[in-house]
Amino acid sequence: MEEKEIIEKLENLENELRFYQQLGAGFMVGRQKKPADEEKPAGELIGLEKETESQLFQAEEWEKLIRRIRDCRFCPLFQGRTQAVPGEGNCQARLMFVGEAPGRDEDLHGRPFVGRAGQLLTKIIEAMGFKRQDVYITNVVKCRPPENRTPRPDEVKACSPYLLHQIELINPRVIVALGKVAAEFLLQTNKSMSELRGHFGQFKDIPVMPTFHPAYLVRNEGNREIKRMVWEDMKKVVKLLESS
Ligand code: SF4
Repeated sequence: MEEKEIIEKLENLENELRFYQQLGAGFMVGRQKKPADEEKPAGELIGLEKETESQLFQAEEWEKLIRRIRDCRFCPLFQGRTQAVPGEGNCQARLMFVGEAPGRDEDLHGRPFVGRAGQLLTKIIEAMGFKRQDVYITNVVKCRPPENRTPRPDEVKACSPYLLHQIELINPRVIVALGKVAAEFLLQTNKSMSELRGHFGQFKDIPVMPTFHPAYLVRNEGNREIKRMVWEDMKKVVKLLESS
């Protein structure tokens, strides 16, 4: 075999190995089969470490959950929706944002926080030093209420298992509750937002920071004080994330 041909084959092999590494198959590189391997379960033998198996399990759980939300008819809100909006982002995020319910733009696109309020949320996330795809964003209720009215308690109750399952799967370090519906649900309180915001509460063992909903900021665009308060709240969230 000529030298050029050997170099080409080696380059191809290197590219192939890199590809498998990107798929998470670290087992392809530098691992010799040992006699003890004969005894091991197949998954372990080919390098599907426990972490990978658990990731596969998580991916399947997410797929089932998203499908259930998209097909859901548990409450009357399904009648007026274009599509349900399960949520989006990093399924292993340390930071999770929970809003109220999808609005018109979200209902049309099937994605949370994509209208004006959503653009503002993206700016807030970036000002905190993250990218939108680093965090997970969802709502308490997954279908748009008519005329963007506040979801009723029976609708929140019907939809809540989905959010609970999302929180369980993500297990974030901090949750930001955007607005009263999310704060009331997560903190089981009916205190006003002015009382709640700026102070960490708890959902199970997860710290929850209630703050004003971005739509409220949009409606009060010229009010610098509200912006300042939200920013103060987010600084506390960043500080907590940095310390843990
Ligand atoms: S709002 Fe929630 S409970 Fe109601 S239909 Fe949509 S997904 Fe189902």
